[in-house]
Amino acid sequence: MDTHEITDRFLRHFESKGHTRVPSAPLILDDPNLLFVNAGMVQFKPYFLGEAPPPYPRATSVQKCVRTPDIDEVGKTTRHNTFFQMAGNFSFGDYFKEGAIEYAWELITKPQSEGGYGLDPDRIWATVYNDDSEAAGLWRKLTGLPGERIQSRDGKDNYWDMGVPGPGGPCSEIYYDRGPAYGREGGPVADEDRYIEIWNLVFMQDVRGDLSPKLGHKPIGELPKKNIDTGMGVERVATILQGVENVYETDLVRPVIGRAEEFSGRRYGSNHADDVRFRVIADHARTGVLLIGDGVTPGNDGRGYVLRRLLRRIIRSTRLLGVQEPVLQEFAKVVRDTMGPTYPELVSGFDRINEVVRIEEEAFLSTLTSGSRIFDMAAEETKRGGGDVLAGDKAFQLHDTYGFPIDLTLEMAAEQGLTVDEEGFRTLMNEQRTRAKADAAARKTGHGDLSEYRKVLEQHGETEFLGYTDLQ
Ligand code: ATP
Ligand code: MG
Ligand code: MG
Ligand code: MG
Repeated sequence: MDTHEITDRFLRHFESKGHTRVPSAPLILDDPNLLFVNAGMVQFKPYFLGEAPPPYPRATSVQKCVRTPDIDEVGKTTRHNTFFQMAGNFSFGDYFKEGAIEYAWELITKPQSEGGYGLDPDRIWATVYNDDSEAAGLWRKLTGLPGERIQSRDGKDNYWDMGVPGPGGPCSEIYYDRGPAYGREGGPVADEDRYIEIWNLVFMQDVRGDLSPKLGHKPIGELPKKNIDTGMGVERVATILQGVENVYETDLVRPVIGRAEEFSGRRYGSNHADDVRFRVIADHARTGVLLIGDGVTPGNDGRGYVLRRLLRRIIRSTRLLGVQEPVLQEFAKVVRDTMGPTYPELVSGFDRINEVVRIEEEAFLSTLTSGSRIFDMAAEETKRGGGDVLAGDKAFQLHDTYGFPIDLTLEMAAEQGLTVDEEGFRTLMNEQRTRAKADAAARKTGHGDLSEYRKVLEQHGETEFLGYTDLQ
């Protein structure tokens, strides 16, 4: 079943249960606390928070999502994309736990010939929050799921809140057992590679005064109107229904791997290190194109920096597959062709997307060529001296003179079995910033030479490193 059919069946199923179909919001919303939209519920937040009356009691959507904190998992686990589609159904004070469980179960287990996904009920597991015996009871009563396939989890996995006073509630996650070839027995608490999480049901029932059960706090009350927020991972369901090994091999991601195979002359599936690179390329190409399609351009901080880092990782990974020529425009075309039918902005905006990746790639390739030589020498020297830590001043020189972002140096070092003296790097960065400030101050009081100050600004004005994980 192709991805389009999976989302189509989802939306039609929930429309048949009285839900209004709502289009995906863009990846960027006007919310300073959120780098990218990372869940289906984001566009409905005002209704959950009671800031605006919901125009419908029930809604369903397939939302574009970007989760940059998952970037290090990409290609290594079988199930994490940086861009993925989350299908969801939402109740604003309408149905609650019972409806959410019933509707989800019906869709996943109904035979394919009748519009469902036809998953084998004997392979389904569910988790509930600690003492949410109500949910556990409903699973048994409504679906016949035996008690031993309903597992309890604590707040880290199975309690949802917004990290601020407001609504919160227990979750129930739905897992599919891929079988003994994929890992250990014992349900999702034992092995999340074998038991793959496909759907999360959030039962919004509590009022949180402050932070959350994770810190041992109890809710301060019950919501007057209880809500449902669910998210089903479309790529994960596609992995199962298409009988492939991981989310990168599904119909809307795999074609980029094919293009990378053509470029490199290497075959996906021949060795692990290359396979991870192929998957990173396919994943990041999709995310990059979708982000540019929603208006992001590469830059040195915030969203632009995330995009830049994704594009650079594609280029680096392709080089590690032995490819020297520019690749981004070719990958962008493949993404346009696979994702364009669902997101027409990728087709109408393609000239711009194409231009953005062309310029970014040109700039990065020249940086790479000069910096890589310096890096190799520094790495060689470190190893020759019997060390395994690249000196902070080397990382600084690479950054300062060759425009190497620190994360690139970290990655390249890791590939050679080295670490980097990040502390030393940061000290030098801070010293440089202090110098630039002193120069600026001198300039203000009439001392110092204007042209020198300009030079400092031009060189360093925008080079501040923003830790990737600090961003979201
Ligand atoms: P995981 O534990 O696997 O990281 P999660 O619990 O963080 O997933 P949720 O926040 O519950 O995920 O999101 C709802 C659903 O979206 C998940 O059940 C899963 O099917 C899907 N999903 C979450 N993160 C990703 C991702 N990085 N790539 C693909 N699908 C994802
Ligand atoms: Mg996660
Ligand atoms: Mg989870
Ligand atoms: Mg989850």
